Amino acid sequence: MLCQPSAGSLTMQAPAKLNLFLRVVRRRSDGFHDLETVMTAVNLFDTLTFEPNASSEIQLRVLMAGTRNQSSRPAAPIPTGADNLVIRAAQLLKDHAGISAGVRITLIKRIPSAAGMGGGSSDAAATLAGLNRFWRLSRTQGELMDLAAQLGSDIGFFLGASSTAVCRGRGELIEPLRFPTSLYFVVARPHSGLSTPAVFKQCTPGVSARGVDEFVHSLKQQGLGHTVRLLLNDLQGPAERLNDEVRQLREHFSKLPVLGHQMTGSGTSYFGICASLQQARVIAARLRAVGVPWVQVASSCS
Ligand code: ATP
Repeated sequence: MLCQPSAGSLTMQAPAKLNLFLRVVRRRSDGFHDLETVMTAVNLFDTLTFEPNASSEIQLRVLMAGTRNQSSRPAAPIPTGADNLVIRAAQLLKDHAGISAGVRITLIKRIPSAAGMGGGSSDAAATLAGLNRFWRLSRTQGELMDLAAQLGSDIGFFLGASSTAVCRGRGELIEPLRFPTSLYFVVARPHSGLSTPAVFKQCTPGVSARGVDEFVHSLKQQGLGHTVRLLLNDLQGPAERLNDEVRQLREHFSKLPVLGHQMTGSGTSYFGICASLQQARVIAARLRAVGVPWVQVASSCS
């Protein structure tokens, strides 16, 4: 997360994430799932600006960023009221601190929604970290992590200091993973999105025998060339059964010279790992040429 203070206001850049590995271990008695996942933050950002509000209200304005020749239409409507994770995070922090201050927040959305790229979670993390500073609350990282866990599973990852991490449990047990080189991706999203609960409902937990330790060991010891063979996402099969556009993306990627490819999170976005930024640009152009509506080149955040 990048933080830029300026006179009276504060701007945060909230990154997207990609899941390089995602194993659904078991369904828990509380209805959530235990996961083993490796997430990496990438340089596709939503932007949040916090400005003073004369009233004690938390106000949110959501703007959709359009990029040239790319569909900025969200796959699912983004709530602008109390359901938006930005408002929920701001309200939770305000209640926790017991303050009366308000804030005007502008959210510029670039991360596709309902796409498995963690946009809402990242926005919530940027709100907790940004308002902690904007309201001069001095809450510790541990306190912010506790609030994050009350809001959702992936928010702790985005609050953490490491841009790549192994996350376990519901996602709240976070182990930083230092990775020496940048990873280059081409990321594509079809027209439609998928709801995370619907995809988990379709998934049979505990099917994949290979655990995250083997993936991490390979990444550290044998490098990317070997590790791309161990990419895994247990949610991809269920997502393909629910949404044919995910299967179509897999077919497009399987014809491209990427090192490896898979869906991220609960979909519908799909990524290929490329040998270089230049190769990622060439592949992105090929995907646009066959009509994929949203294609971006990205690299892992350092
Ligand atoms: P996940 O974190 O489960 O991988 P996702 O990346 O697939 O989620 P998000 O963009 O986080 O998808 O949005 C999931 C849903 O959350 C959206 O359909 C929307 O209704 C709701 N939502 C709430 N706040 C936000 C926000 N700030 N940005 C995007 N979606 C939001």
